[in-house]
Amino acid sequence: MDYKALSEKLFPNIDKTPDFWEEKYPPRALKEGARVTRFAPSPTGFLHFGNLFTCLVSYKTAKSTDGVFYVRVEDTDQKRKVDGAIEVMLKGLSLYGIVPDEGVVAEDTEVGDYAPYYQSARKEIYQTYAKSLVEQGLAYPCFMTPEELDEIRAAQENESIKGIWGKWAKHRDLTFEEIEARLENGEAWTLRLKSPGDIEKKCYFDDMIKGKIEMPENVQDVVILKSDGIPTYHFAHAVDDHLMRTTHVVRGDEWISSAPIHLQLFRVLGFKPPKYAHVAPIMKEENGGKRKLSKRKDPEAAVTYYAEQGFPSESVNEYMLTLANSNFEDWRRTNQNEPLDKFPFNLKKMSVSGALFDMVKLTDVSKNVICKMKADKVFELSYEWAKEYCPDLAGLYEKDTERATAILNIDRENKKPRKDIAKWSDIPDYISYMYDETFVPCYDLAGNATPELAVKVLEKYIDCVNLGDDKDEWFARMKDLCPCVDCTPNVKEYKQNPDDFAGHVGDVSTIIRVALTGRTNTPDLCAITALLGEKAVKERLSAALAHYKEEV
Ligand code: GLU
Repeated sequence: MDYKALSEKLFPNIDKTPDFWEEKYPPRALKEGARVTRFAPSPTGFLHFGNLFTCLVSYKTAKSTDGVFYVRVEDTDQKRKVDGAIEVMLKGLSLYGIVPDEGVVAEDTEVGDYAPYYQSARKEIYQTYAKSLVEQGLAYPCFMTPEELDEIRAAQENESIKGIWGKWAKHRDLTFEEIEARLENGEAWTLRLKSPGDIEKKCYFDDMIKGKIEMPENVQDVVILKSDGIPTYHFAHAVDDHLMRTTHVVRGDEWISSAPIHLQLFRVLGFKPPKYAHVAPIMKEENGGKRKLSKRKDPEAAVTYYAEQGFPSESVNEYMLTLANSNFEDWRRTNQNEPLDKFPFNLKKMSVSGALFDMVKLTDVSKNVICKMKADKVFELSYEWAKEYCPDLAGLYEKDTERATAILNIDRENKKPRKDIAKWSDIPDYISYMYDETFVPCYDLAGNATPELAVKVLEKYIDCVNLGDDKDEWFARMKDLCPCVDCTPNVKEYKQNPDDFAGHVGDVSTIIRVALTGRTNTPDLCAITALLGEKAVKERLSAALAHYKEEV
């Protein structure tokens, strides 16, 4: 067979050789050990939490070695393409601090010497390599129709090795004349790899996450170019990751079963294979078992969910690192105030079988992140969130932004800040009693506080409440109230002789707390009182008093 003539016949428009591209995209001049990684989304417009997670792993792999992280858009399937998808995905990444050094950095904007980074613009490159494989007798056109392929699929139902190989590879050895006749006949063809695989042999590789892997060699004559001349994922992966000089391919572990095909393609093409890091999917617990986090079933599978709920990106990042590296939490305990990029990320510490998504844990992590933020930052971030997702909160803030910040500063910026807020959408409820517009009175009492006692306490307190009290003065005032209402300022004393008292200082403050906020548990009541202002305080105390008077 004259393979050279065949390659010309199949690819008359290709006048370049692989050397041309090799020269155009030379190896990168990076320091020893620097890793080149990428994120290679299909432009569907949906960013799954698992994709963000894998992308973060890929990004950290590059960044922790002063390498390069780039974005390549895998848009060979034009049917799946969604307008504006890239913008949505890149925005999703940047929200979590993932900004590519290179590649597609905005819709239709590419930077870097290895462009184009849209696969749809790389047809000539793929076809150059395809032509070269044909020329070497390593690939061939296959004219099998979809119906024929369906028949083979049905016939192979009980075969352990499926696909086009051995006797099924009917067009592997067509003669030049046969091919020519079919082409002249206008028959559609795909280009298949002439797999050099041996059914008896194994392929081995060392996955950076999963460790040593052994699988049977690939024997399938996989399609490398579809009938429209567009490459399959397998072929585009080999050509692109080689020419873009990717050192580490970090991707979902659904690709692990195709790795033998990929390693074979690298070999046939004469490329050095990259290192692989196959990331297990994020799992979710359900009915005692585990399943993959699902786009269809779980709202938290969409990255947009976290922004909508108002989880700060810092929290999500922190949480993703707890999922990514088993030693992250220990590191965090000893490095409480270090920024996240100081964490020595290590692929080897990734979970092999799939980390479990846990909303309670995320909530916990986020509370810890938010409690350490200054009030200004909490205000700023939650205001940004509110403008987009909660106009009512934005409206309340805008009445007086300084007061809003002061409200958010209650029990914050101290050694033991409260951990009430896990996400910005917790704030409207958390601060509702601080605004007349959203305050909902509720006069349910707790502890020893009874309506009778409430009447006594409120009658006295209305006369002596002082919004200028500092914490100590405020507490002294609570204690001073006690003897006037048959309570003791001393909780211990109450516990020793409960029958001697109507309650203790805690009960007195509960009554005031409930009157002012409608709740039995709030942050520092002294600060709340001061920020509520004279008018609201007087009104609420009077309304509560009237309520309890009616009750007794
Ligand atoms: N476009 C592929 C996907 O979205 C990329 C896989 C890879 O990273 O190689 O699954």
